[in-house]
Amino acid sequence: MRHLVVATRNKGKIIEISALLTGLVDKISSASEFASFPETVEDRATFEENALKKAREAAWFTGFPALADDSGLVVNFLDGRPGVFSARYAGEGASDSANNTRLLEELNGVSNGNRQAEFVCVLAYVTPEGTEQLFSGRVAGRILNEAKGDGGFGYDPLFLVDGFGRSMAELSLTEKNGISHRAQAFEKFREYLEQSNKKELIL
Ligand code: IMP
Repeated sequence: MRHLVVATRNKGKIIEISALLTGLVDKISSASEFASFPETVEDRATFEENALKKAREAAWFTGFPALADDSGLVVNFLDGRPGVFSARYAGEGASDSANNTRLLEELNGVSNGNRQAEFVCVLAYVTPEGTEQLFSGRVAGRILNEAKGDGGFGYDPLFLVDGFGRSMAELSLTEKNGISHRAQAFEKFREYLEQSNKKELIL
C-alpha cells in the first residue's frame, strides 16, 4: 500500500501511528495536510459508526485510503456511558478532570463489585474503491473511588486495570502500550495490512 490518510489533526497520534505502521505504507498524511479537510461531526451512537463516518468522509475527500479511530470508556453500571460521549461527558470542551469528576459523581455510592468498565478503541479503514474494515481493541478494569497515578490521559487515573492492581495512569507508557485498547486495534490493522500487501505482491 502506498499512501494512507489518517483522519486526525493530532500530531501525537500521527507520530504513534507512523511508528506502528513502519514498513507497511510508503506515506502517511494527516488531515492538516489537506486544505478544507472535512470536520466530521461525531454524532453516531456507536464507536464503529463514528469511526466509519470519519474514515468514509476522509477517503471520499482525499481520494486515498483512510484510517479513523474512535475510542472511549464504557461503564456497565451506567448502561455503557460515557461511551461515545467520553471526551465531552461533563459538557462540550470539558477537561479530563471535569469528566473524571462527573464519572465519580455518577458512581457515588456504587459498590466495588458494580464498577466494572472497559476502554474500547475502534479503527475504521476505508478505501475510495469501497473496501471497509473495522478493527477493535478492549481492556477491562474497574472504576476507582479516587484518582491514582499521573501518567496517561483522560480517565486513566480512575481505571484500575484488571490483573495489574494499578491504575492505567500508574503504568509506564511501555506497559500501557503493551495492553491498551488502542494498541490491540492497531495490531489487528497492522496484521490486515501485512496480509493485503502480500496479496498485492502475488497478484
Ligand atoms: P477520542 O477517540 O480521541 O475522541 O477519545 C475519546 C475520549 O475517550 C478521550 O477524550 C478520553 O476521555 C477517553 N479515552 C480514550 N482512550 C483513552 C485512554 O487510553 N485513556 C483514558 N481515556 C481515554
